[in-house]
Amino acid sequence: MIQNDILLKHLSSVMDPELGVNIVDLGMVKDITYNNSEITIDLALTIAECPMRNQIESEIKRKLKLIENIDEVNINVVAMSKEDRASLMSTARKNAREKAIPTQINTRTRVLAIGSGKGGVGKSTISTNLAVGLEKLGFATGLLDADIWGFSIPRLLGIEGRLEANEEKKIIPYKKDGLEIVSTGLIAEDEDTALMWRGLMLSKALEQFLFDVAWGNLDYLVIDLPPGTGDIQMALGRLLPQTELLVVTTPQPSAQKVATRVADMAKRSFIPLLGVVENMSYFETDDETKYQIFGEGGGDELSTKFGIPLLSKIPISETSVEESENGIPILLQQNESPTKKAMENLVNEIIKVLPPVSDETCTGRLAKVLEELEAEE
Ligand code: ADP
Repeated sequence: MIQNDILLKHLSSVMDPELGVNIVDLGMVKDITYNNSEITIDLALTIAECPMRNQIESEIKRKLKLIENIDEVNINVVAMSKEDRASLMSTARKNAREKAIPTQINTRTRVLAIGSGKGGVGKSTISTNLAVGLEKLGFATGLLDADIWGFSIPRLLGIEGRLEANEEKKIIPYKKDGLEIVSTGLIAEDEDTALMWRGLMLSKALEQFLFDVAWGNLDYLVIDLPPGTGDIQMALGRLLPQTELLVVTTPQPSAQKVATRVADMAKRSFIPLLGVVENMSYFETDDETKYQIFGEGGGDELSTKFGIPLLSKIPISETSVEESENGIPILLQQNESPTKKAMENLVNEIIKVLPPVSDETCTGRLAKVLEELEAEE
């Protein structure tokens, strides 16, 4: 039997997109019952026909199914009592007051953290291309280089310069096409600032990037994590509860083993695992023969172990990578390589498993709730 507090932790990462508070704190989770691997949640919504209903339900299902031994999730929508509504509204109001300094990231922004057990597996290359790909499709996208000491995003995007601050003393992200980029590589231009950043704990640096940057109203924020496990995942789980982790590995068993630690750590920080990407999976010749240079099976094993999808196997490419290292991301290159095709597929997979949060609002719902409350008083 899974403990209720574990379930509630996972449910706490499902936000009511409009109120910006998680469904547990809002008192929307009324009951949890089990029948072997089947779980039933009684979910109280303010108004049953709210357009957000589908979205909240599918988020609950997706997140609970990530827990081991849960195969089926049923949701019963139940009515909210007058008292429940009053308490929901007061929680929402209290949250709005207390969150006097919220992060600059909208609660409706999808946050995609890219992690790996060790360096050199292609984590930054994948982060960059994901962000570029999402932006190319018209989504408002940000790319945060949280690899504070080992930053490589500016090089991979072929950008340099220094970030400026606006009148409110918030850092303005660098803009390339529509993509918003923040990296220590665009801040630490002299030894002193570099030293200052080195002195900061990773989690503190992350806080600055989330609180002190004037991010736009993003559909997606892609975060390139430093390799390995630690502080920064914990901080992300706390500061941005909507974060999901994509684990990058190469096919070798040794790489898969270190990637397992990252996935484990994320689970402990209650960051849901979105999927696995296996990079450098094979080399494909012009006649489409594939050579598994680095062995095989790492991505599949990780995916089976954690019950999460293997979203893509990205082949090795010499030519794409040469240009990529010179500042032209693979998705913006002219040549049509198998690596580029795999990156495009990955972007499409991400949109499928993590679609942008619908713009449909339920402001009407809130207004109605308030009206009803006032009428009842
Ligand atoms: P990480 O962020 O994990 O340290 P990088 O994205 O910096 O990894 O990639 C490490 C090196 O591997 C870089 O030189 C990069 O160009 C190269 N690389 C990444 N993906 C591929 C690939 N699919 N095929 C060939 N080389 C790759």
